[in-house]
Amino acid sequence: MSRPTAADPTVTSPLAIVGSGVIGALSALTAAQLGLKVLWFGPAEVDRTDGADARNYALSPATVGLLKRLGVWSALEANSCTVTRMEVFSGASRVDLTASDSGVEFLSAMVTHRNLLDVLEQALKFRAPVTRVPVRPNYLEALPDRVRLGVDGKTFDAQLVLGADGARSWVRGQAGILWGQRDYSQNAIVAAFHTEFPHGGVAAQWFDRGDILALLPLADPQQVSMVWSSSRVDLLAPDLNATIADQIADRTAMRFGRLRLVGSLTSSPLRMLLTDELTAPRIALLGDAAHTVHPLAGYGLNLGIQDLLCLENIWKEYRSDPGNGSALAAYRRQRLRRIKTVQWSLDLLQRWVVQPHPTLQRLSQLGMRVVANTGLLRQLLIRQAIGPS
Ligand SMILES: Cc1cc2nc3c(=O)[nH]c(=O)nc-3n(C[C@H](O)[C@H](O)[C@H](O)COP(=O)(O)OP(=O)(O)OC[C@H]3O[C@@H](n4cnc5c(N)ncnc54)[C@H](O)[C@@H]3O)c2cc1C
Repeated sequence: MSRPTAADPTVTSPLAIVGSGVIGALSALTAAQLGLKVLWFGPAEVDRTDGADARNYALSPATVGLLKRLGVWSALEANSCTVTRMEVFSGASRVDLTASDSGVEFLSAMVTHRNLLDVLEQALKFRAPVTRVPVRPNYLEALPDRVRLGVDGKTFDAQLVLGADGARSWVRGQAGILWGQRDYSQNAIVAAFHTEFPHGGVAAQWFDRGDILALLPLADPQQVSMVWSSSRVDLLAPDLNATIADQIADRTAMRFGRLRLVGSLTSSPLRMLLTDELTAPRIALLGDAAHTVHPLAGYGLNLGIQDLLCLENIWKEYRSDPGNGSALAAYRRQRLRRIKTVQWSLDLLQRWVVQPHPTLQRLSQLGMRVVANTGLLRQLLIRQAIGPS
């Protein structure tokens, strides 16, 4: 980390965002809509090595609401798919969750990572108060009334720096924010399949022998996206690409008929990243820089967007200095407990599913049957599935 020289001209802005992924781009758009001048740091994503390019997000209605307010949903809608029913299977038990059961229009909307980021980047080109600095900063210094970022000898000052730079956050490291992680000893294998039968907007999930397998509908009525969390798939098996479609069709009792792999498989190790501090002086973390969760509920990005919605409200009140101590304290107070609750709830569910004890497995199937027969519990689950509004 090289300290810029004092003679360097400094660009000043209320807000600097580090991170060129979905949360960074959305933060820039949200701040710009409030009229805040933004410096947005990070190179354009070309080829992600962590498999995110192959990901499809199940966006909650609250997230879709934000995209509508930002004026970008109309560009995404044609390539999205609304999920109107979820089928959850465990052993011989099955629970159906429908949007109409809970009086909502849809449970979630599926979009691809690439499409979402392209639309956000396109929209940002026309937002005047956003200046893109298409490189990673290499210097950060917190001063009492601002943070100084440095890139190649140039300096940039901001009242608030947002760390939206993902699970390996550079900002988090520079700010000295401690973190820990729980390794799930599982990989998420992501793939897309062409299906024999149209999916009809149905998302299906199987809790099975410690694995969690989800098939999620895509914009093409005969394509689904798979997220298979498992510790037992032999990723190095030479014939995995050739056999996976039949394996999954078999494990899902041909729910969508015969399957054909589209493209290739990607795999990422699953970890829950935790921190007790979301902020440091004039610095705030959000998105995966602040927390990661098991993908069993498709919650990760939605959780980051809830961080942003909280910040958006705070910025309305602290427009003249979004990085001041009271603004950051409000963010910590409003988000920390909520994030921990989601993280530990999903963690508990994951432990419940992977535990091998036969009595507990029988109990879990009994629980599924109770849920299947109780409208009120089903509605509660739907509200959890679609996230808070
Ligand atoms: C298998 C799987 C399936 C998932 N499915 C869902 C789902 O259905 N729904 C859902 O809500 N969530 C889902 N998630 C979670 C979701 O992918 C993440 O929560 C989300 O991508 C986090 O976005 P982010 O922008 O915070 O971080 P990232 O996507 O990691 O983006 C960080 C960005 O910052 C850039 N960057 C890194 N370092 C720097 C630096 N020093 N300077 C500037 N830029 C930098 C990176 O290049 C990257 O572009 C899933 C996760 C997994 C593993």
